[in-house]
Amino acid sequence: MKKRSSADGATVLIVGAGPAGLVLGNLLLAAGIDCLIVERSSREHVERRARAGFLAADTVRVLVAGGLGAGLLARGRQHGTCVFRSERGEFALHYGDLGRGEAHTVYPQQELVTDLVAEFLHRGGDLRFGTPVSEVGGLDGERPWLVAHGADGTPYRLTGRYVAGCDGRHGVSRRLPADAVRSHRRRHGVSWLALLVETPPALPAVTYAVHDRGFAGHMARTPSVTRYYLQCEPGTDPGSWSDSAIWEELDLRMRAERFGPLRRGPVLERAVVDLESDVLDPMQYGRLFLAGDAAGLISPSAAKGANLAVMAAETLAQAFAAALHLRDEEPLARYSATCLPRIWRAQEFSHWMIGLLHAPRGDDEESRFLRALRDSRLENLRTSPPQQHSFADNYVGV
Ligand code: FAD
Repeated sequence: MKKRSSADGATVLIVGAGPAGLVLGNLLLAAGIDCLIVERSSREHVERRARAGFLAADTVRVLVAGGLGAGLLARGRQHGTCVFRSERGEFALHYGDLGRGEAHTVYPQQELVTDLVAEFLHRGGDLRFGTPVSEVGGLDGERPWLVAHGADGTPYRLTGRYVAGCDGRHGVSRRLPADAVRSHRRRHGVSWLALLVETPPALPAVTYAVHDRGFAGHMARTPSVTRYYLQCEPGTDPGSWSDSAIWEELDLRMRAERFGPLRRGPVLERAVVDLESDVLDPMQYGRLFLAGDAAGLISPSAAKGANLAVMAAETLAQAFAAALHLRDEEPLARYSATCLPRIWRAQEFSHWMIGLLHAPRGDDEESRFLRALRDSRLENLRTSPPQQHSFADNYVGV
């Protein structure tokens, strides 16, 4: 199909081809709104970047309604149980049967991104890979612009009516004047060694192991790839963990001796994720609108990041459509107010999950206090039906 946008810009300029930018771009094209996506990395890189995997029912609804759900409906797997292990034993929560009665769809983020790229190009979209943006400006005026760099590094200017900053945590869009937005941030002082292992899931459900040596987690990704997490010291070099040290520690914290062995396999990827959260308020500055991780980072403890990115993209696409088709600027003006309560709910739950899964190791009185709180929280989740329903609503909802 013919590219729709002109050489020097488009009505909506989107920075970043992650879930937020790609969902937004696809929904705008479906609404007949001319847009352009500029992405720093290569197509191969973004289509291989393994991150999230658990999609909430609302996320699936948005994707399916936007004609973006064929892959996840064909290959995604329903998941409605999570298991908690601690020194007291193991219990399963069938959250798909609790609360709103909704399950997750497990569909790796890189497969979703691959589908979204293909669909955007199929719809005639202009997607420029290998094109970093170094500057965004003119946001107070009618014609905001950005400076992009082509394959040889030559800078060129793109102009539009709006800019959507979907360039993630380290992008340029969120570098706003200090008085433009209020930032709320928490560094949780906890880090995870995030591992992708070439092996089928060893366990039938997401499994969270609470251990005094630190948290460990098991999450299915595909029939042949499993994600494991191991809490590690902040600042750890991922290369300092040998394969044998990883499996020894996973066996110990997952209590393999008691509950059965894990399936070992080659470690395909290892990275250290520092658990951090931040929220920008408002998610807008002049004609720039932020979505996804660009607007706020959420710790991966409750698997909310990609889901919030998709939901914000839907809200923003609807607001752009109202402004451009109906000359109704109100939904754009309310964009932050619409998204932020949802974001804060997810932040609160993710923060609660951090307290459920971690506590300091030390033998000082504060560490002992926090460990006892963690154990009480876990016991309440095991025994209290109202707590279980509330957990289910928050765990799968966005
Ligand atoms: P991104 O996916 O980061 O996309 C931003 C894009 O912008 C990137 O492609 C980047 O290359 C591009 N970009 C950046 N700067 C520029 C620039 N200057 N110019 C042009 N392009 C630029 N979330 C969940 O919901 N569930 C999970 O289970 C989960 N697990 C995770 C596990 C790990 C290890 C990590 C790291 C994250 C996880 N997340 C999870 C979070 C989730 O992956 C992110 O929240 C999600 O990717 C956010 O999407 P986004 O489109 O906002 O940003």
